[in-house]
Amino acid sequence: MKYVIIGASAAGINAAQTIRKLDSQNEILLISKDDRVYSRCMLHHVIAGKRSLDGISFVSPDFFTQNALQWIKGTGVRDIRFAERRITLEDDQSVAYDRLLIASGASASLPPIKGLAGAPNVFTLRDISDVQRIGAAAQAGKTALVIGAGLVGMDAAAGLLEKGLHVVIVEQADRLLPLQLDRTAASNYQTLFEQAGAEVYTGVTITEALPSGNGGPVQSVRLNDGTVIPCDLVIAATGVRPNTGFIKDAVLTMNDGITVDEQMQTSLPDVYAAGDVTGRSAIWPLAVKQGIVAGSNMAGTSKKLTDGFTAKNSINLLGLETVSLGLVHAPDPSYEQATLNHHGVYKKIIYKDGVVHGVILQKEISRCGFWTQVIKEKLPIEPWPADIFDLNYAAFYQIAPNGRYQYARAL
Ligand SMILES: Cc1cc2nc3c(=O)[nH]c(=O)nc-3n(C[C@H](O)[C@H](O)[C@H](O)COP(=O)(O)OP(=O)(O)OC[C@H]3O[C@@H](n4cnc5c(N)ncnc54)[C@H](O)[C@@H]3O)c2cc1C
Repeated sequence: MKYVIIGASAAGINAAQTIRKLDSQNEILLISKDDRVYSRCMLHHVIAGKRSLDGISFVSPDFFTQNALQWIKGTGVRDIRFAERRITLEDDQSVAYDRLLIASGASASLPPIKGLAGAPNVFTLRDISDVQRIGAAAQAGKTALVIGAGLVGMDAAAGLLEKGLHVVIVEQADRLLPLQLDRTAASNYQTLFEQAGAEVYTGVTITEALPSGNGGPVQSVRLNDGTVIPCDLVIAATGVRPNTGFIKDAVLTMNDGITVDEQMQTSLPDVYAAGDVTGRSAIWPLAVKQGIVAGSNMAGTSKKLTDGFTAKNSINLLGLETVSLGLVHAPDPSYEQATLNHHGVYKKIIYKDGVVHGVILQKEISRCGFWTQVIKEKLPIEPWPADIFDLNYAAFYQIAPNGRYQYARAL
């Protein structure tokens, strides 16, 4: 039996670790284009000069030997012939597998704005080579224009501000981090970024990038309201596309990414997929969970991704920490909300019939594990207490007849 995992990041590494825990005997081989294992969520610290490349690794230096894992690094997969259970690498090596996990992640894509593609000072932020290219172009005092204020764009903006650049953020939604935060939590970040010297434009789109000549660097962008913003470099952070280019064999079912069931199995036997390559919500915790589920099933222990609660975002930008769980806005008037906004601490709970569907905790995030459980397990809170923000685990336990604490599910 030979397990092969394409990708050595959130999904691939967690799958490998899971398989090794369940199967101490058989061969596990990881293949990755990257020659390092690192957290993409920390790339902006490298841009800012606050961390080295080694400082953003999320495994120990002896991870591969300790877990008896083989690793072909720095070379990509070129092709998979599923009927023969064989992979061809870009360096022409040929690798056989019995069980395969595709965890090849996603790549950043440029928005279709006239004048952006091909310009030498336009970058995306996805991997270490992007950081190196951005680092070479991003000199203190220059103006960096960031398109898109999601997690990637805001990370880039923070890193560049910390490096001493003038940063302009352009977001088409009406606030920063529109998928992760409500208006209040987002405006607290906007204030913080503006205090750090950033200019923020929301609710506008870029209609064109204006280069200095044919194929020259972008010198400014024009917004839909006519404003022209000068810039020295552009970071486009407007979305990702699953890395499936090496799958030329049409037998594998694909949708927005590789189609999987709740066991992370693809349409083919013994072929699994996990992480951003599945085209589902492209966030780190989901990739980790999918990797664990895939690895478990590959090693013969049945596991399902039953946890549909995937909208968990931890954000720490310019020193302000926020966690948002589940819904950010009440979807309709039948939902109620409780808020607390005091001395820079902002908290919001969205609930319906005593069941919590969304929580935002900003600046004071200590109960985020508790609220994660409450949402995930749909624990009813009845009656709804006046001091809801003080609620903790103790409220959900009772003393059983045998004197031990037991889970009571309700107050
Ligand atoms: C700048 C930035 C900030 C982010 N911030 C956050 C955040 O704050 N919170 C959050 O939840 N998420 C964040 N994300 C998203 C998060 O990083 C991803 O969801 C996560 O990395 C997905 O993990 P993955 O294992 O699916 O794929 P990836 O991390 O994309 O890894 C893919 C792996 O596959 C390999 N690979 C790719 N193509 C091939 C090929 N052809 N052959 C062989 N190997 C290949 C790569 O080398 C890599 O090892 C951020 C992403 C970026 C870029």
